[in-house]
Amino acid sequence: MSVNTRIGIGYDVHPLAPGRKLVLGGVEIPFHKGLEGWSDADVLTHAVMDALLGAAALGDIGQHFPPGEAEFKEVSSLFLLDKVVEKLEDGGWKAVNIDATVVCEKPRLREYIDDMRHNLCHVLGIDMERVSVKASTNNGVGDIGRGEGIAAIAAAMIEKV
Ligand SMILES: [Zn+2]
Repeated sequence: MSVNTRIGIGYDVHPLAPGRKLVLGGVEIPFHKGLEGWSDADVLTHAVMDALLGAAALGDIGQHFPPGEAEFKEVSSLFLLDKVVEKLEDGGWKAVNIDATVVCEKPRLREYIDDMRHNLCHVLGIDMERVSVKASTNNGVGDIGRGEGIAAIAAAMIEKV
């Protein structure tokens, strides 16, 4: 019997800085700081992208979308996720489900979670019930706990179609 599903993991962290928009899962969240990075620094979407690329053993997002390239400056990470979906499709892969955790001390994310899931499932072309986004904190421990940045972890399953 041939195995036609694969799993992958993704991890990302970006520093919080004043004067930036806070975008998570393509949702702009009102806050006095935002994530710093070359694109919109959407740490959740980046972790999801890395999990998908990892599942297909296609490398990582730094390889496909190198920081410093004018094409990707300030770009929406949902656009980059769409590019990853295309790369998977080229190899005959499609996402089955995603489970992700955003590790963020502040702000509270609960009320934005369903909008994030909606954005991600739309780009992935799968039902919303297959996309899980959870919000956690670092319980005050370390740099994330002091609110210096936001981290995200994601797992993705893909199947050969
Ligand atoms: Zn990133």
